[in-house]
Amino acid sequence: MRSRVTPLFNETQIATRVKELGELITRDYAGKDLVVVGLLNGVFPFFADLVRAIDLDPDLTFMQASSYHGGTDSTGEVVIKKDMDRPIQGRHVLVLEDIVDTGLTLHKVRNLLMDREPASLAICTLLDKPSRRKVPVQVEYIGFEIEDHFVVGYGLDIDGKLRNLPYVGVYQP
Ligand code: 5GP
Repeated sequence: MRSRVTPLFNETQIATRVKELGELITRDYAGKDLVVVGLLNGVFPFFADLVRAIDLDPDLTFMQASSYHGGTDSTGEVVIKKDMDRPIQGRHVLVLEDIVDTGLTLHKVRNLLMDREPASLAICTLLDKPSRRKVPVQVEYIGFEIEDHFVVGYGLDIDGKLRNLPYVGVYQP
C-alpha cells in the first residue's frame, strides 16, 4: 500500500509546523481555562504531538464524529459516535481535527458545542482543503493548506490503514 503514497509533508515539516501551532496556542490561551477536544480517529498523532507543544495545562478529551464509511469519498451524513466527557460551559474550547474537507463534520460539531455555551470555541486542523468546502466553517489554526488530493498518513487512513505512516502523502488508488 505504501508504494501508492507520494510524500507531501515529511516528519520534519510536520514537527516544525506543530511546534509553531503549539506556540501560537500557548500564547493565545495563557491564563485561560482551556479544554482541548480531539476528533477521533484520525487526530491521534496530531493530538499527541500538538498537546505536548502547548506549554499550558489544558483539560484533554476526545469526541468521535464520522462522515466516512470507508473509501475516499464522503457520504455527507455526519454522525456523533462518541461525545466528550467534560462540561464546557464558560470554558475555552479548542477542537483539534486532522483535516477539513467539505466542512460538514466541523459544522455539526461547532453547532453542537456552541449550544453548550463555552466561553469561546476555536478549531485547529493539521490540513485544510478549502477547494472542497460545501459549508463555510471558521478555522482559527491551520497547519497546511492543500489542493484537492486524498491524503493518508499521520493519522489519516484509507479503509483503516496507513494511519501509522509518520508523514502525510497523496494516495493513488
Ligand atoms: P469533512 O466533514 O470536512 O468533509 O471531512 C472531515 C473528515 O473526512 C476528516 O476528519 C477525515 O476523517 C475525512 N477526510 C477528508 N479528507 C480526507 C483525506 O484526504 N484523506 C483521508 N484519509 N480522510 C479525509
